[in-house]
Amino acid sequence: MIKYDKTQIQKIKSQIFEQSGVQMLIKREDQNHPFVSGNKWWKLKYNLEEVLKARQTTLLTFGGAYSNHIFATAAAAHELGLKSIGIIRGEETLPLNPTLSFAKARGMQLYYISRETYRNKTEASLIEELHTQFGDFYLIPEGGTNELAVKGCGEFARQLNAEIDFDYLCLPVGTGGTIAGMIEGLDKSKRVIGFPSLKGATFLEGEIRKYTSKKNWQLVYDYHFGGYAKSTDELNEFMNEFEKQFNIPLDPIYTAKMMFGIMDLINRNFFEQGSTILVFHTGGLQGRQQI
Ligand SMILES: *Cc1c(COP(=O)(O)O)cnc(C)c1O
Repeated sequence: MIKYDKTQIQKIKSQIFEQSGVQMLIKREDQNHPFVSGNKWWKLKYNLEEVLKARQTTLLTFGGAYSNHIFATAAAAHELGLKSIGIIRGEETLPLNPTLSFAKARGMQLYYISRETYRNKTEASLIEELHTQFGDFYLIPEGGTNELAVKGCGEFARQLNAEIDFDYLCLPVGTGGTIAGMIEGLDKSKRVIGFPSLKGATFLEGEIRKYTSKKNWQLVYDYHFGGYAKSTDELNEFMNEFEKQFNIPLDPIYTAKMMFGIMDLINRNFFEQGSTILVFHTGGLQGRQQI
């Protein structure tokens, strides 16, 4: 398997928390692997095991040009000596951005399809075409979300349950696979709060319910800052300020939006007095300088 570094839980100290009577802890899962980082490590874990078990030699997956999933999959495949193919949404832009040039340097074969065709990414006819073109491969869906990804995140959640006491788990949400696994793995007394980085992403609730029937969770939709891979001056300033104050790097696509949301909710007394908020730092730092 790919390597894994055990990560720390850091306590964040600030006046804000004292005033509002809450405690904040951050699980620094961004430090679990230099490239297959954060939630992507857990999402890939059982998928990679399956690939090796089935003696397959090629991974194929989908993503946008800034995708942490593309970046992580390319790194994981390289570490395991597997071939990888990335089906990228949209036209090729040269020079390649840092995400795609990293993927390419790790041996990922990049193949671009139009945004229109990309919409069919789960359809059998497109997958069949890709098989005709590329031969045999193990398919990992966009963002890496499938049953095995949810299983991996569930395992991480059970470890957290055993490791530390807390009341709320907060995490950013893209496709919903990670939060679904966390809900499944955590004790039902914990409350799970997800912060979608996409705009108008109410469809996510249905996606999450595909993988869990538990009810101790909610999504907060107010902190997308214009949508996926969009940012604002306010968000960038917050991100830089947070890093200066706490020495914890965030990324503008996922973790900064979540953290902004958590701080705002604390100010609005959303969290119960005396409670402990555990923040899942899902990584994604490779995307920091790109948008
Ligand atoms: C991919 C990613 C997410 C979203 O995970 P989903 O399982 O798609 O919801 C959140 N944070 C970071 C840093 C990511 O890279």
